[in-house]
Amino acid sequence: MASTAKPCPFGTFNAPAAWQAVDLVSDLHLQASEPATFEAWRAHMAATPADAVLLLGDVFEVWVGDDAVAADPFLQACAQVLRQASARMTVGFMPGNRDFLVGPHFMKDCGLLPLQDPTLLRWGAQRVLLSHGDALCLDDQAYQRFRAVSRTPAWQSEFLARPLAERLALAQAMRAQSEAHNQSVAYFADADPAMTRDWLQASGASLLIHGHTHRPADHAVDGLPPARRQVLSDWHIGAQSPRAQVLRLYADGRSERLPVHAA
Ligand code: MN
Repeated sequence: MASTAKPCPFGTFNAPAAWQAVDLVSDLHLQASEPATFEAWRAHMAATPADAVLLLGDVFEVWVGDDAVAADPFLQACAQVLRQASARMTVGFMPGNRDFLVGPHFMKDCGLLPLQDPTLLRWGAQRVLLSHGDALCLDDQAYQRFRAVSRTPAWQSEFLARPLAERLALAQAMRAQSEAHNQSVAYFADADPAMTRDWLQASGASLLIHGHTHRPADHAVDGLPPARRQVLSDWHIGAQSPRAQVLRLYADGRSERLPVHAA
């Protein structure tokens, strides 16, 4: 009914009906300074019995262009994990707010299936809307302004044309600025309820799964029973209380949250 109110260019991904399980993972924030998180992720990608792992954004803490890989052994190790995984199963990649500059060259080199944000997963009778989640956090207006500008081809080609060293320095400055901003605001932006309802109604899904907020939980969707919103965990094995979780969907509609050592 409200499907014409706010057009949303959903991507769609039709999963083979024969699939038994799909792993959803986001917010790994992979970086050389967090080797334990990388190791847990590497082990999971190599051992999961799932038919696919769909990576839903912020896999990488920062991404300044595919050409950075050649000069960075850590990113090469990440590429190797992705290549080995995609040789035996489907590995989907959706951009997050940290790694939206991952480009077609890296995707192709690693055998990744590019996923638009948001993407409607159609799998048997299931209709699940997948998103990184940052687009839903409307309360953070400064970020939404940056997001709108930085997702344009003009901004991206201008940024990617700068020398690599300059891009790395700019990315570091932007992260420092964003951390200062996050500490200066009294609220933590969360998925906007009206936009959540719009997306679910427009896509015909009854379940939205996203990451980004680092607040894993299962929510009802106000005003739209029996729809649900599931939030993925971030991964940080080096933290005082280590975090790493996979949300596994099954063909029969069940799902479970798996701690990574058991997944
Ligand atoms: Mn994020």
